[in-house]
Amino acid sequence: METVQIILYRDAEKKNLANLNFQFCKVLVLLSDKDSNLERLDQNQLCCHYTIGQFPFASAKIIIQKTPWQHHLWRVATNEKIVYLTFDDGPTPDVTHKTLEILERYHAKATFFCLGRNAEHYPEIIDLIIKQGHRLGNHSYSHLKGFKSSIKTYLDDVELASEFLDTKLFRPPYGRIRRRQAVRLSKHYQIVLWDILSHDYNRKISPEKCYRNVINNVRSGSVIVFHDSEKAAPNMLKALPMTLEKLQAENYRFEVIPYTYG
Ligand SMILES: [Zn+2]
Repeated sequence: METVQIILYRDAEKKNLANLNFQFCKVLVLLSDKDSNLERLDQNQLCCHYTIGQFPFASAKIIIQKTPWQHHLWRVATNEKIVYLTFDDGPTPDVTHKTLEILERYHAKATFFCLGRNAEHYPEIIDLIIKQGHRLGNHSYSHLKGFKSSIKTYLDDVELASEFLDTKLFRPPYGRIRRRQAVRLSKHYQIVLWDILSHDYNRKISPEKCYRNVINNVRSGSVIVFHDSEKAAPNMLKALPMTLEKLQAENYRFEVIPYTYG
């Protein structure tokens, strides 16, 4: 990374990328080595796909556009040393059990965005998550892609999951959701995204890299994504204790995502 040019869409104020608060923002990324050859990235979640330290482009213009999606929580606004660990796509026998054991070792609480279909199969793991003081989130029943599903199909899938997951938190699979789906769901749920991805599901990277993805970008209020899935387990189960060890040494606490967010 050499230079990153940032243009705020509304007020043209330039800021340091690391200081930007992505909460409530839609991020359009225009990439180029030359201004004349801009390519628009099809995404509105820069922080999902490229956390600050991983920004893989030589230069870019980034347009930050305010959106009416205030109900999306990317990060909790706090100056306290608290981070919010989240685990998606479980519960998974063995993997979720090991995750809970690791969390207990560090007296850490976390939020589990479970799939309804998994919660239906493993209600005893759901009970264990709650019993140990963690919080549940709805991650839909069958991990639908919001952009490829009708409003009704998508809402029905979330509703089905709610039969097995008693929660007011929802995280859209892939972090992608259509505006109308989000508006409807936000009547019943706090929609939770994230500001830090560990990329633990990527088998091409090491647990150490997952750990660094978190540690290099963490700050007060960060919402951090891991996965308690078979796919992510080889990375996650190694990266998680390293992350907890390091953040605990830096006096961070680990709490569940709050229900009321102001
Ligand atoms: Zn997922």
